[in-house]
Amino acid sequence: MKTTKFGLSTRIAAATLFCCGIITGLYLAGVDDTSFQLQAAEAEKPPLKTEPMSSPTATRERNFYAPNSEALLPDEMRLIACGTGMPTARPKQAATCFLLELGNGDKFLFDIGTGSAERLSALQIPYNYLDKVFLSHLHSDHFGDMDALFVGGALMGRQKPLRVWGPSGDTPERGTAYALDHLYKALTWDLDGRKGITDPRGYVPFEVTEFDYKGINEIVYQENGVTVRSIPAIHSLDGPVSYILEWNDFKFVFGGDTYPNQWFAEYAKDADLVIHECFITVPALVEKFKFTPQGALDVGTQVHTAPEAYGKMMSIVKPRMAVAFHFFNDFDTAPDIESRIRTTYDGPLSLSTDYMVWNITKDTIRTRMTIFDEDVWPPTPTEKPLVPDPSLRIPFSEFIVNGKYDMKDVIQPIYDETNEQYNLKETQGE
Ligand SMILES: [Zn+2]
Ligand SMILES: [Zn+2]
Repeated sequence: MKTTKFGLSTRIAAATLFCCGIITGLYLAGVDDTSFQLQAAEAEKPPLKTEPMSSPTATRERNFYAPNSEALLPDEMRLIACGTGMPTARPKQAATCFLLELGNGDKFLFDIGTGSAERLSALQIPYNYLDKVFLSHLHSDHFGDMDALFVGGALMGRQKPLRVWGPSGDTPERGTAYALDHLYKALTWDLDGRKGITDPRGYVPFEVTEFDYKGINEIVYQENGVTVRSIPAIHSLDGPVSYILEWNDFKFVFGGDTYPNQWFAEYAKDADLVIHECFITVPALVEKFKFTPQGALDVGTQVHTAPEAYGKMMSIVKPRMAVAFHFFNDFDTAPDIESRIRTTYDGPLSLSTDYMVWNITKDTIRTRMTIFDEDVWPPTPTEKPLVPDPSLRIPFSEFIVNGKYDMKDVIQPIYDETNEQYNLKETQGE
């Protein structure tokens, strides 16, 4: 036996190594026996593949979403949370915004709350494709970044109108068309100042489709195989709605702010993915938001949907995936939100936060987080920008022109350099 031989040889060679030799020998004997057993077991298995699954230099599967790095399958949907928090947008969570991308190339924005335009920029999607926004209601935490998407998008490659769908109000002044008409007017100085300097095609007035907020499962959009319907919601005033999008036998529901309502219970049923608000708990509203208990009860349970009520609604509509938003999703708040939801719902659940991503196919729903580049620049426009027409510029007054400091000597080399590089003959204005 190997052990004996090894032990004997160590005894003869050096007494001081005797113990060590025995121990080593026993150890080796153990390994030998184990190896033998393993070899016996291996013999019963099918032979191993000779090619490795991946080499050290190959790309391996990763469990995050990197924007602009994954194709969407023709029959797949991808949803990205670009705002899941509260009116006080914070670094971790902007206010409400979800982007739905379909395998046919269509993209739909549901709400564009304060701070969400920054999240959209991280996704590296050409702005020409971000031209459709569906508004649930006109609280600023649901459309507060409309100006940022409108102006920033036009500046960086949206060479067409921004299209907006939204509900009427109980008076014309509380409707979407009124709000966007006045937002456009509020941008008068901004837009006038860009005339003759930039490609003008994206700065034309919003193309607004205002529909009856009382419509029950009425079609508000139907193009390219995609149908969007609206149902009323109950929140603050008459006017808010939720949306149901159907495409390729998928059903996607975006619930705007609401007290739980009968239309949602009926028309959101059996959807593939349902987004519904789930508000901050009453204790957290009192302790962290410093609401009065009375105010917390009103806002947390009557104006919005409490977690327990959210769970009850999800148990009724039974989606393949329930997405909860409209709360600060932190280590010390999420457990309480979840445990309250779980008193009334035991199905699939995502407590959403910004940059959460869902890939939805007929068979699977994969949930991941986005890893993005903080130094991201806008993606290349899908069309070449038009050369600005300087004759469209609104001139300065003589008073302001006379205030210019003479910098022609230091600016001239920039003109020379650019003219030479791009074969131009541009000259400095007066
Ligand atoms: Zn609201
Ligand atoms: Zn809200």
